[in-house]
Amino acid sequence: MSKDLNHDADCLFCKIINGEIPSNKVYEDDLCYAFRDIDPQAPTHILVVPRTHVASCAEITGDNAALVGHIFTVIARIAAREKLADGWRVVSNVGADAGQTVPHLHFHILGGKRLSDRMG
Ligand code: AMP
Ligand code: ZN
Repeated sequence: MSKDLNHDADCLFCKIINGEIPSNKVYEDDLCYAFRDIDPQAPTHILVVPRTHVASCAEITGDNAALVGHIFTVIARIAAREKLADGWRVVSNVGADAGQTVPHLHFHILGGKRLSDRMG
């Protein structure tokens, strides 16, 4: 799996990953970084992002699929650590219709309450 980092100097999450902007870190490794959302929508609301700049799920290809697979193993471990035994949700918004506000691939982990039945 490639660890070559693609960095976007204007990207909020690239700045969080490199420490230019502070964050409430939950987990990190060579490939990804996880931190608490600044505007939590549930008691547990964590964002998991690749260290390398990928714009969204629309840019997932064979070349970075292993990275995304790794991130999902991290998501499962974080959910276990947060003791979300009654369930949780993982969400990734793509583009304007989904309300994506930060164009750096991120997966929201939401849990700790009964989540909305509505998905869209
Ligand atoms: P999305 O709307 O799916 O692109 O998600 C972006 C998320 O980033 C939102 O839930 C914001 O609350 C969160 N966010 C924005 N700025 C920060 C920040 N500085 N630290 C942590 N989370 C942030
Ligand atoms: Zn970025």
